[in-house]
Formats: sequence, C-alpha cells, structure tokens
Amino acid sequence: MSHEDLTREELIRRIESLELLNNQLLTEREQEAALDFAWSGNLGHWYWNVADNQVTFNPLKVTTLGYGLNEVPRQVPFQFFTGLLHPDDYETAMSAMREHLQGRSVVYEVEYRIRAKDGSYLWYYDRGKVTAFDENGRPLFVAGIVFDITEKKKAQQELERQNEFLSEQMMLDSMTGVANHGAILEMLRRDLSLAQKSQGDLCIVLFDIDDFKLVNDTRGHLFGDRVLTGFAELVRTIIRSGDSFGRYGGEEFLLILPQTNKAGALRIAERIRTAVEEHRFFGDIRITVSGGLKQYGGGDAEELIEQADRNLYLAKAAGKNRIM
Ligand code: GH3
Ligand code: MG
Ligand code: MG
Repeated sequence: MSHEDLTREELIRRIESLELLNNQLLTEREQEAALDFAWSGNLGHWYWNVADNQVTFNPLKVTTLGYGLNEVPRQVPFQFFTGLLHPDDYETAMSAMREHLQGRSVVYEVEYRIRAKDGSYLWYYDRGKVTAFDENGRPLFVAGIVFDITEKKKAQQELERQNEFLSEQMMLDSMTGVANHGAILEMLRRDLSLAQKSQGDLCIVLFDIDDFKLVNDTRGHLFGDRVLTGFAELVRTIIRSGDSFGRYGGEEFLLILPQTNKAGALRIAERIRTAVEEHRFFGDIRITVSGGLKQYGGGDAEELIEQADRNLYLAKAAGKNRIM
C-alpha cells in the first residue's frame, strides 16, 4: 500500500497500530530470548489490533490451511479466520473472545476447527490475551498463539472410538456375540425399573438347551460351542428390537420382553422353541430348547430369574421341548 494515498488521519491510525504491534513484538522478543522459545511446525503467533481490525499472524497458519501467502489479503481482518470456522465451533469461539474482551475471562482460550482450502477441517487450539487497553479501558490489542492440534485430535477421537468398542466388547459374550451374564442382568435391572415407573408389563424367559451334554458327548465340545452360537443367532432373528437377549451361563439364555404380557411372551417363546426344533444346525444337528416364563409381579431381578428357573425346571420335568 502506498502511503501517499492515505489521509493524515489514516496515517496516524496506521502509525499507532504499528506502534502497538512493535511494543508487543519487543516484549515477546525479550521473553523468547529468555525462554529460548522453540518455533515448531504446528505453532503460530497472532496479533489483532481491535481498533482497526487488522490481524498480523505467523504465516504458518495460512500455509497449513493450504493457502499460499499470495492468496491472503495484505491487510487481514479477523473475519478472514472466523469466516472459515466450522459452523459448530463458531459460537464457541466467538463467545470465548467476547467473554475475554469484556473482561469476564482472564484469557481467551478455545479449540475450534477451521476449513482448509481443500474443504477438510483442521483443529486448532487458540489462546490469547488483551495486551493493551485505551484510556477508557477498552481493549486495543490482543496477542495470542495458535497450535495445530489436528493430529492430537485425530488420535483422541481414535482412542474414544476404541474405548467405545472395548466397552461394547466387555458387555458381550465372546463366544455367541450376545450380551454376557453381567450385561443381561444389568439390562434386566434397567427394564424392571422402567416397568415399575411406567406400570407396564414385563416378562422374562429363561431358556436351557435340552440334553446339550449329548451334543458335546457325540460331536465334541468345540462343535457344541458352534451350536450354541448358532442357537443365539437364530433367536436374534426372531426377537424384536426392544427385547434383550443374553447368555445367562453355559447353555442357558435369558430373554427380556418389556411391555409384553404373559400371552404375548408365550407367543414369542413358542416361536423360538419351534424355530429351534425345526432348525438343522450344520446340516444335521437337531436340538430342542425348554423355557421357563415369568411375568414380573414385584421383587428384584434375582427373584424374577429364580421364579423363571423354577418354571424351567417344571418344563424339563414335564418332558423338555416346552415352555412353562
Ligand atoms: P437338560 O436337558 O437337563 O438341560 O440336559 P443338559 O445335558 O443340557 O444339561 P446339563 O446341565 O446336564 O448339561 C449342560 C451341558 O452344557 C454340559 C456342559 O458341558 C454344556 N455346556 C455348558 N456350557 C458350554 C459351552 O460353552 N460349550 C459347550 N460346548 N458346552 C457347554
Ligand atoms: Mg443347563
Ligand atoms: Mg441343558
């Protein structure tokens, strides 16, 4: 910009602005000399003159965004960056800055995403502070540092994803892939308290595969494992999305049927029983299953299971392959 084109007032403003920047840079040079401050590839400094809205920054920030320095306006207003903010982060960043400018926070500190030239988003950690005020206490100048934390964020998101995966895995029976003992009990407690609150019906069915020892004895334990997995898969195709199904232990499985009365539960249990009876596991293996059904009528999860277990015992005693 040619200075001849500027009015006297504009020139004075420009000089004042440069003075502020100079003061800041001098202070920082002292600090840097003292700290032997390392400049790394993911860090940039920025300076914002509030009065004339000019931003001066370390060129790293724009080059990491994929822009050439020639693509950036010579006088950069702070809107150059805020215009590239991710819509979900815009308000967070703006209010953090507002809070600080109005003296309600000691520093401006925020994490946000900025759109790179190729449309992808990079994560930044941004931190700044008002370093000069006018005679009325209004902020004149803000200085800050900004870190590219994209890699850190990616690693963090990956870790969160893995944690989610692991906690899901911890709930599952590793053999059959259905809820394990602890998880199905927890689901029962949850559904019981919901049923109590809503005064709704709830039924459970405790299934036990008939003569399963025979399968193991004739075909081996490993084959027995595969039949158990096949059984669990078959049941999953029959139950509804609000129902829960898990391995209670060994060859015993628990089905929870919220908002289902005894007649409805019996229909589903019978559907499972006949599907198992008709299914040929691995071509030639036939199994049958017995079930003890119980409608919730008070008490806790353990008592309900005990009652269902009693009915299961009756089903076995009455000749197996039936629901009681
Ligand atoms: P019932 O009709 O009275 O239930 O007879 P059953 O043979 O199924 O009953 P029992 O309780 O006598 O035996 C259960 C069998 O289930 C014995 C045990 O080895 C087998 N079993 C339990 N868990 C597993 C497992 O994870 N894999 C395999 N292959 N077998 C299992
Ligand atoms: Mg058993
Ligand atoms: Mg059995």
